[in-house]
Amino acid sequence: MVTEKIHDVIIIGGGPAGLMAAFYCGTGGMKPVILESLDFLGGQPAALYPEKPVYDIPGLIEVNGQTLASTLTEQAMQIEPIVEFNQSVEEIKKENDVFNIICKSGKVYKCKAIIIATGKGAFSPIKLNVPGEEEFTGKGVMYTVKHLSDFKGQDVLILGGGDSAMDWTCTLKNIAKSVTLIHRRDGFKAHIGAVNQIKALAEAGEINFHIPYEIRQIEGKGKVEKVTIFNNQTQEEKSFPVQSVIICAGFKPTSDALKKWGLQLNEKGFIVTNEICRTNIEGIFAIGDATEYPGKRHLIVMEFGEAASAAGFASTHIYGKGKGGAEWWSGPKKKESVTI
Ligand SMILES: Cc1cc2nc3c(=O)[nH]c(=O)nc-3n(C[C@H](O)[C@H](O)[C@H](O)COP(=O)(O)OP(=O)(O)OC[C@H]3O[C@@H](n4cnc5c(N)ncnc54)[C@H](O)[C@@H]3O)c2cc1C
Repeated sequence: MVTEKIHDVIIIGGGPAGLMAAFYCGTGGMKPVILESLDFLGGQPAALYPEKPVYDIPGLIEVNGQTLASTLTEQAMQIEPIVEFNQSVEEIKKENDVFNIICKSGKVYKCKAIIIATGKGAFSPIKLNVPGEEEFTGKGVMYTVKHLSDFKGQDVLILGGGDSAMDWTCTLKNIAKSVTLIHRRDGFKAHIGAVNQIKALAEAGEINFHIPYEIRQIEGKGKVEKVTIFNNQTQEEKSFPVQSVIICAGFKPTSDALKKWGLQLNEKGFIVTNEICRTNIEGIFAIGDATEYPGKRHLIVMEFGEAASAAGFASTHIYGKGKGGAEWWSGPKKKESVTI
């Protein structure tokens, strides 16, 4: 189905970057459309770490992922964007300066400018393929943490050497009965500060920490009850009771669709952008985790800045120089008071 209306700007992805881009498009006088492949907004903070505290959002001392996602959504909704859920963008075609965005659902949207905010793509967790993993997925084996309260009084095994594994270990040690962190090697993807914190917690006896260990088997009756781990150098095994196994082996982003959009990607598969978030295709801007440029850090605070920049330059692309929106917004229209 082709929607004949030619929109000003379509934002692909409703994570932090896409939501803030929508907000800035709206404050610049445009009515943006957000196409989101999931059935909710908020991106990674909502999907991957809803209860993890985030400490580096300016103006917010501490906020968890879900609250951050909800607040960003509420902020973006003030400018009344059109939001289309379950629309996974597959193809982009340009005809006479109008983009046709083709979704998996068969829907086609038309617009004059695009802001790509697809993050690292639609995620699926990397599996370990160990005995018991598939059988107990959803019955104690998980790849993301949804509700912290589920872990109250539990023995929890966390696997991984990245920031997610370190974050969950620190957060859950205050909730679970016991937390054991294992990692397959003595090298970590996580920030050095986080690794040092984990080592200090292990030394203080607040968590159990084993390297270089992997999972041999997950067992139970209907739900996870026991795990066996092994030292991948000595083959020494340890078995102990657990009720939850959190596998933080990473996510495979399925950004295959992105490769078909004709964009210049770097060797790591990120979209190459310039200082105004412009891609190699005129009228297509890209922001957030999907992009990389010298000095880029994959932090939400950077993505907010990119969102403001891309929205401004998308407006300039559509309306020409000097016809963009206000430099800053004076707030939502006050509801007119009704006198009876
Ligand atoms: C465990 C963890 C903890 C983190 N903690 C912090 C932190 O404390 N501070 C910080 O600054 N950053 C943190 N980050 C990083 C931060 O979450 C990301 O930088 C941020 O979410 C990127 O925002 P984004 O909008 O670019 O992408 P995402 O949040 O990934 O959102 C992209 C959206 O696009 C959608 N999408 C993807 N492909 C398509 C498609 N083809 N069609 C339609 N929709 C599509 C996705 O479904 C998703 O909703 C953390 C990340 C993780 C994993």
